[in-house]
Amino acid sequence: MSKYWNIKTQGIEPYVAGEQPKDGQRVIKLNTNENPYAPSPAIKEVLKNFDIDTLRLYPDTNSTVFIDAVASVYGVSRENVFAGNGSDEVLAICWQALFEKMGNTDKKVLMPDISYSFYPVYSSFYDVAPEKVPLREGFTVDPDDYCGKECAGIAIANPNAPTSKAITLDEIEKILKANPDVPVIIDEAYAAYAEDYESAATLIGKYKNLVVVRTMSKSYGLAGIRLGYAIADEEIITGLRKVRDSFNSYPVDRLTQRIGAAAMLDRENFEKNRLAVIKTRKFITEELRKVGFDIPDSSANFIFAKPPKSIDAETLYKNLKAKGILVRYFNKPVINEYLRITIGTDEEMKEFLEAVLKEI
Ligand SMILES: *Cc1c(COP(=O)(O)O)cnc(C)c1O
Repeated sequence: MSKYWNIKTQGIEPYVAGEQPKDGQRVIKLNTNENPYAPSPAIKEVLKNFDIDTLRLYPDTNSTVFIDAVASVYGVSRENVFAGNGSDEVLAICWQALFEKMGNTDKKVLMPDISYSFYPVYSSFYDVAPEKVPLREGFTVDPDDYCGKECAGIAIANPNAPTSKAITLDEIEKILKANPDVPVIIDEAYAAYAEDYESAATLIGKYKNLVVVRTMSKSYGLAGIRLGYAIADEEIITGLRKVRDSFNSYPVDRLTQRIGAAAMLDRENFEKNRLAVIKTRKFITEELRKVGFDIPDSSANFIFAKPPKSIDAETLYKNLKAKGILVRYFNKPVINEYLRITIGTDEEMKEFLEAVLKEI
């Protein structure tokens, strides 16, 4: 029998985050797509000069120092930017603010059947009906599958997770044009690692239905501070701010706003780290393919790799874990044949490779 205090939470199936080792434990951590390199050194100056007296005061609700930095980098205005406590929170607010609830509409929100596993969680939590669109051969998102269908909105991670594959800006435009009356969320958590891809934020101003969501967690190496943002038409941003102010007007603290601004404006550190990860990704992809791994071309800071016949993904995951190497294994149909492996430093990937070669 359920007691009144847990009735509301009984049916909830929450997102399961990748494991984090305890402090002091030595592991090679390739399981949650963190950046192997340090964030901008400009953050040290921010910390050194930070006036702790200001912590008495609530932070600026809109994170103006940070969104101004974002606006300058993307060439948009501050009215086009929304900041939140990690892009997970930004996405959650998008779900609440932008997608019509079941009951109010028969239409569903289109999303790839294999994608960021938070999307179905938000959908169920906020009573939004998801329609899972099957990926095509080779884990490809086909834009035609998102055109000409009645829907309540669209959410696509680009590059997609955990498959690592990206669609082009032209393909995104095709989807935007075909769905002018519903919000289209493009989650660019990994876009910094897609070569020859400019952010869909370059289309802001042209499409009122576009929402680009990005994070400081991956390519800026700041998963520890929790900061993400959305870039969209002013009307959409106003809606996001209304939802935010209905449950927490101060999602981003004072220190995080300053750290985020400094990191955003340090384009040199961002470029250097991004290119280093891409280079290592090419190296490890080639090495693993040589020994029989099946790996789609990655546009992200991780690869999606199917081991050769001699070992299945789950066994390899477990054996690596026993050696202190963490990768991500998803016990779900289709993707249970693959491991998602975050790109670490060259040294980490060499150690990882050596361990793998002994297992296969
Ligand atoms: C990591 C990730 C996020 C969340 O990033 P945070 O800003 O750390 O909350 C969002 N979307 C995708 C696809 C991700 O992989």
